[in-house]
Amino acid sequence: MGWDIKVDAGKCTGDGACKDACPVDVYEIQGGKAVTVNADECLGCESCVEACEAGAITVTEV
Ligand code: SF4
Repeated sequence: MGWDIKVDAGKCTGDGACKDACPVDVYEIQGGKAVTVNADECLGCESCVEACEAGAITVTEV
């Protein structure tokens, strides 16, 4: 069991809200977009989803 994280690059503004919200440092901002660099550590808390004003992130249990 784990969590599938999707960032819609078309919606992402690269403001880093997800990076700031994530307790386990899943995100980095690269080239002005959020990318997942530590997805295996995801807790499924959805803090990043709530923090993203652009609605660019979905987290789904897999
Ligand atoms: S769901 Fe929680 S742990 Fe997973 S990437 Fe988002 S903020 Fe980080």
